[in-house]
Order: sequence, then C-alpha cells, then structure tokens
Amino acid sequence: MSIPIVRTVAELRSIVSAWRREGLKVAVVPTMGALHEGHLSLVRSALERVDRVIVTLFINPRQFNNEADLAAYPRTEHEDAAKLAPLGAHMLYAPDASEMYPEGFATTVSVSGVSDGLCGAYRPGHFDGVATVVAKLFLQTGADLAFFGEKDFQQLHVVRRLTRDLDIPIEIVACPTVREADGLAMSSRNLRLSSVQRQAAPSLAEILFALAERLATGATADDVLIEARQAILAAGYKEVEYLELRADDDLAPLDAADRSARILVAAWLGDIRLVDNVCVRPKQSTSKRFASPAAA
Ligand code: AMP
Repeated sequence: MSIPIVRTVAELRSIVSAWRREGLKVAVVPTMGALHEGHLSLVRSALERVDRVIVTLFINPRQFNNEADLAAYPRTEHEDAAKLAPLGAHMLYAPDASEMYPEGFATTVSVSGVSDGLCGAYRPGHFDGVATVVAKLFLQTGADLAFFGEKDFQQLHVVRRLTRDLDIPIEIVACPTVREADGLAMSSRNLRLSSVQRQAAPSLAEILFALAERLATGATADDVLIEARQAILAAGYKEVEYLELRADDDLAPLDAADRSARILVAAWLGDIRLVDNVCVRPKQSTSKRFASPAAA
C-alpha cells in the first residue's frame, strides 16, 4: 500500500482537474510533516467528509523566525507517507522550496488583528509566513474543505480571516487537539524532548485544565494567571512567553470567562517551545475536554 507523492503545482493541478471532472469533492490537510496522531485525526476527519484527501508536507521556511528551529525541525517524509497510506489518504503533496517560492517570488499575505499578540508578538513574521503558504496551498489545490487543528488556535483564526478576506471558496474545518495519555498536546516538537523533559512536559496541560476550571466558575484572570505562570515555572519550564485568557470567537483579551473563552500558552522547556490552549466554557466542567488518540 502506498500513497502517490506529488512535487509540482502542475502535476497537482492536473490530478485535481481529473477528480473535478468526475465530480469528486476534495479536502486539503496542510502539515509540516513528522506526522503524529494529531495530524492523522485531521486526515480521518477529512476522509469522512470528502472523496479525495490531499495531505501537504512542506516545512515552510517563511514561517520560521529562527534558523536553528528550522534546521532542527524533524524531516521524516518516508515515515509520513507510510502512516498516510493505510488511512486511505489520496495524495501527499510535498513540493520543495523552489517550487513554492521560485526565483523572484515577492508576495506576502499579511493578516492584521488576529495575528497581533500571543505567538505573533514573539515570532515576528511567523503568521505572514503561515498566511502566505496557506493561501498558496488553497489556490494550488483548489480544495473545497481544509482541516486545521485547534492546537494552533491563533493560526486557525489567521487562516479563517485570510480565507474570508481573500474570498477563497474553501470551508475551514477545526478539529480538537489530540493529546498523549498524560495530557501533553501532541506536537512534532515533542520528538526533541529529552526523557527528563518529556516527564515534566504534561504539567503544562495539567495547569491549563486546572486554570480552566477556576475561570469557568468565575475567577478573574488577574487573580489566577500569575499563580499559574509560577506553577509552570516550578514544574520545570524555563520561561513562559505568554499565558492569556482570550475570547474563543475573535481572540479579544478577556478579564474573566464571561463568554466562551480560551486560555493560550507558549512556554519553553529547555530549548523547545511548546504551545497549548484549552477552552473555558463559563459554569461548565472543563475536565475531559480533550480528544485522546483512542477517541480520535
Ligand atoms: P504542523 O505540522 O505542526 O504545522 O501542523 C499541521 C496541522 O496539524 C495544523 O492544523 C495543526 O494545528 C494540526 N495539529 C498539530 N498538532 C495537533 C494535535 N495535537 N491535535 C490536533 N491537531 C494538531
């Protein structure tokens, strides 16, 4: 069992055109590879909704604001293809950088508002890189639906905004964060954690879920966020970049969870930056609000 790997826009377009002539519905699942259950859950969701699923694998240099992070990013195309084939995904689109950004490339898609603050404040240019490559992937594939993880919650908002603003005819589907059994949000970056770091890592999610309980029952952000920050540091994290309460629907900063909200965090464990978020629904229990691999 294998999955066709496509490297060029021309070949991609010719295959998608043939699918269109047959009247088939197409979805795209953009990834940077090093696929784990989180990615595979997006692919499974896509397969339930459409006839043909394109998984893209492109480690987008424009969204890395740190050379070392780009160099260290895991590259496992062979293993990724082997994970996708048995699921029944129909194509792995893995262009190289010169196909995506040929000589003379000079356009940037930049989304204001939802890109500001949070990761946008700490990774200058990151969301420009994301928005540019996502717009290109949407236009190259011409897909009807695109699947993204809530794991990268600000990115999801950026993608929704650019899709609306540029009138790209594609439906954005958000999928819940898949976690390890101990609560750690799955991430390709987890591969780089040492065994000691891996043991400390889940405390981040644990603290977020406890925080969500307190905010759901009426605590104000001022009262609980500082304490939670200290708990993250005490658990072994080196630095907390941000820990904030934002509105679920538009990322507006909130003082209390008086409407559906998100706690978003980015923190460094050694030299690995981990991001996570959990939702806060006022006056409701927040436990078991994550998808486990078994449930995915
Ligand atoms: P990445 O390869 O990290 O760029 O992620 C590709 C897609 O997979 C994005 O839409 C991510 O939000 C999504 N994703 C990454 N990790 C997870 C996870 N643990 N659960 C659900 N979706 C995820």
